[in-house]
Amino acid sequence: MRQIKIKALIVTIFTLGAIILMSGTTSFSNDPFTANCGEVSTETSETLTKPLLTAKLTKNSLKLSWTKVENADEYKIYRSKKSNGKYKKIAEVTADTLSFSDKDYKGKRKTYFYKIKAVSMSGERTEHIYSNILKKTVYKRKSKVHGVTYIDGILIANKTYKLPKTYNPGTNRKAYKAFQKMKSDAYKDGISLFIASGFRSYSYQKNLYNNYKARDGKEKADTYSARAGHSEHQTGLAFDINDPSSSFENTKEAKWLAKNCTKYGFIIRYEKSKEKITGYKYEPWHIRYLGKDLAKKLKKTGKCLEEFLGITSKYKQR
Ligand SMILES: [Zn+2]
Repeated sequence: MRQIKIKALIVTIFTLGAIILMSGTTSFSNDPFTANCGEVSTETSETLTKPLLTAKLTKNSLKLSWTKVENADEYKIYRSKKSNGKYKKIAEVTADTLSFSDKDYKGKRKTYFYKIKAVSMSGERTEHIYSNILKKTVYKRKSKVHGVTYIDGILIANKTYKLPKTYNPGTNRKAYKAFQKMKSDAYKDGISLFIASGFRSYSYQKNLYNNYKARDGKEKADTYSARAGHSEHQTGLAFDINDPSSSFENTKEAKWLAKNCTKYGFIIRYEKSKEKITGYKYEPWHIRYLGKDLAKKLKKTGKCLEEFLGITSKYKQR
């Protein structure tokens, strides 16, 4: 009796696990994938023609397809985390099958390399030929780690996405280091930068917002101050530079910051033309650390972070 119960429990756990895996809202990046990254296998075969491997993104899998190879008896599908790394065989299909759906893309962000091998056993000897190598970066679109939301691997705190009370990471080391470098370079240009406000805890933000609310009313306070749990300052990745007030706009420091901050991995988080999307008034002093690559990429698109990630910034309760 007891054993049956344990068995049932194990089955339940497995089933639940499978459901969780299947139900993850997952999508793929828009990154153009390289159909052929130049690292084509040099394998040659006298009788077999090289198959062309392509991939299509579906909601729940990456569907690999390839061109038919005359005289092939089977196809083997391989996957690797590095283009020149170890390729692991993930499936084997018969000659009449020309596609395979890979559903294994757990994790926040992962780049996979694929190739297939066509094998012919009908001739005098076994022959095989490899396809091109296909590179694909897959994302788990939205994930939550200890109550903190990541979209495409980017930590997000805005009016839609709230941080838990207990999230208290302090100033992010990388962000602070990047700021120090920016500060010293700015100094060489005759620009003095300092952090007026950096990391703010949940309770600190709660007091701050409540004071603004008492002074200006909820509606107005919401345009310039975040409710507790919704402040980017609680992430430790955001800094207010020099003077967090409208008088900072158009100063030589503000201009220098807007022009140069992406080189150090920061963005001006709340832009003038994006007020309706970010949910905040223009804040030329508020910078958010994203890392150099992403900050530069974002600036190039001219989009704010919400547009870039395709997300909203709106409180559920008015
Ligand atoms: Zn700020």
